Amino acid sequence: MPGMDLGEFLQDLLCEAVLELNDQGPDTDVPRQCTQRDCTSPLAYSRCLDCHAAEFICDNCMLQSHAHIPLHQIQRYHNGRFSTVGLKNIGMRIALTHLPCDPCPIPVPENHFIIVDTDRAHNVAIDFCGCGKGGTRAEQLVAARLYPCSYERPRAAISFRMAITASGRRSRSSSRASSD
Ligand SMILES: [Zn+2]
Ligand SMILES: [Zn+2]
Ligand SMILES: [Zn+2]
Repeated sequence: MPGMDLGEFLQDLLCEAVLELNDQGPDTDVPRQCTQRDCTSPLAYSRCLDCHAAEFICDNCMLQSHAHIPLHQIQRYHNGRFSTVGLKNIGMRIALTHLPCDPCPIPVPENHFIIVDTDRAHNVAIDFCGCGKGGTRAEQLVAARLYPCSYERPRAAISFRMAITASGRRSRSSSRASSD
């Protein structure tokens, strides 16, 4: 673009991408074909705001593709409008200790559990392991890289990533204070 420097060009690109992401479009209230390979579902109402791909996909494909990244936020069309929600809204349950393809035979559900991550506090549904394979609830959370907020009956946890980020901030601010 003649006369436009690289910074302006990138800023324009970014603005266009944000506008496109927020665009609700005239045809968004009709069922659309899922864009995932080999999926024939015509009910693709959600797209992930944290993945690189921005296409609409069906709930089943969304859950499958996020089995190991359950804290992503999605933009979902429902009742005539878009809203930003967690994957819990389309049925995501975080199965501790067991792999999604190897569910616990005696899961213990916790339908309102808070995980504090670097971007926000997430309200999630967790299935603790009840068969004994995973140990205590606190041990199961630690195995999933989550610090439980209490040992006895944890209802919330902080992600390791958040703890590392927070400790980095604290050590930077304390080193700044000591050098003042
Ligand atoms: Zn995602
Ligand atoms: Zn699909
Ligand atoms: Zn189990």
